[in-house]
Amino acid sequence: MNKFIHTSLVESQQHVEILQRDPSSPLFSIKTFEELPLKKELLQGVYMMGFNRPSKIQEQALPVMLAYPPQNLIAQSQSGTGKTAAFVLAMLSRASASEKYPQCLCLAPTYELALQIGQVVRTIGKFCTDVKVNYAVRGNQGITEQPGSEQAKGKHRELHAWRQPNTFCSLAVLKGMVLEEQIIIGTPGTTLDWCFKQRILDLTKISLFVLDEADIMIDMQGLSCQSIRIHRSLPKSCQVLLFSATYKEPVRAFAERIIPDPIVIKLREEELTLSNIRQYFMVCQSLDEQYRALCNLYGSFIIGQVMIFCQTRRLADWLAGKMSQEGHQVAILTAELTVVQRASIIQRFREGKEKVLIATNVCARGIDVQQVTTVVNFGLPMDLDGEPDFETYLHRIGRAGRFGHRGIAFSVVQRDTVQLVHKIEQYFREHFFCLSLQAFVPGD
Ligand code: ADP
Repeated sequence: MNKFIHTSLVESQQHVEILQRDPSSPLFSIKTFEELPLKKELLQGVYMMGFNRPSKIQEQALPVMLAYPPQNLIAQSQSGTGKTAAFVLAMLSRASASEKYPQCLCLAPTYELALQIGQVVRTIGKFCTDVKVNYAVRGNQGITEQPGSEQAKGKHRELHAWRQPNTFCSLAVLKGMVLEEQIIIGTPGTTLDWCFKQRILDLTKISLFVLDEADIMIDMQGLSCQSIRIHRSLPKSCQVLLFSATYKEPVRAFAERIIPDPIVIKLREEELTLSNIRQYFMVCQSLDEQYRALCNLYGSFIIGQVMIFCQTRRLADWLAGKMSQEGHQVAILTAELTVVQRASIIQRFREGKEKVLIATNVCARGIDVQQVTTVVNFGLPMDLDGEPDFETYLHRIGRAGRFGHRGIAFSVVQRDTVQLVHKIEQYFREHFFCLSLQAFVPGD
């Protein structure tokens, strides 16, 4: 989802870690795009994008991606660090315009992401006028797109219009053709369909396979199995590049199935720290009292925008309803929304259209709204055993102290969960200041 909301590069000072299959292989890193074996049309595209120098992950990953003989790579870094631009450069670099068959295949978990990657191909590939792209996404009829061309923009709009899955009927199939475009970007389901049912996509000459957002693929049922099936049909010599915002066990296990002995480049996520965030807690007797405490906090302490985190969607809905009734401008962010809806809600919040954003735990990670300096925990995050969920807590309140800004976090808890506050204090070795409810709730 963060892909949709990062409009500029997230520059990180963090360390890049490289795990290499062969430690003696001279894995070099670059400081300028000119050092890379890029054709001049691509360099022009890079300059047109306004990229002056490679990002941290690009410095390390691009030489590997463009190396001969081709190398398999896993690159992990948070959204907005330049992964898409990097693999788009690799695809455009590997695609040979004179060969009229698919050579690069990129899988993304959603329709919207596939189109967004296509957009990057279009801009960076503006000067590679003979390289063509097709989208293996629901509703597409197999129409070609040429990066940079005026006609491409028209086609792209058309593609956006093909939203009804039932209208799908491949033009290529109707004409009994196989696809000739050098770059295919798709979702796993439609790509499988095009390969094995429609038989319009020939995988036998794919030389570069890109799996974007692997962690999301794994979370979305079926996508990782479909990707594995597609991968099995690729030539053995095909270069595989896998990108992910995280590299935890499920991603590692998935990666191992399709990329034995890869080079792994990890850019450590911007380290969240609590030292620049002042943490307060308030103990309440009931949900209603929690609500009144929150409103009073809002009236007296909170200036500007605030993010309020709830443990469940039900609680988030309830709170949003109550606050809206009282005239607050509230937006709500839960996992049930589509990625595009979520991105649009965050964008509105970022633009200040709503002052309060209520979110569930799933949305705690990665939301990057720099002007937010206040976070409220409307109840603390906990696991199924009722123990504190330290990681989620860190990510929730980390929203208030992005990029070293000073922030403030309030935890409004009920009496029976106050021990969670103390466990969190101990775990992070941080002191929480207790706010007396009397100061806020007159007459109680
Ligand atoms: P990711 O795939 O890791 O989410 P993107 O490739 O989408 O990251 O890049 C995030 C933003 O940064 C985009 O707006 C992109 O145009 C920009 N960007 C990427 N690489 C560079 C660079 N080297 N210099 C400046 N901006 C860049």
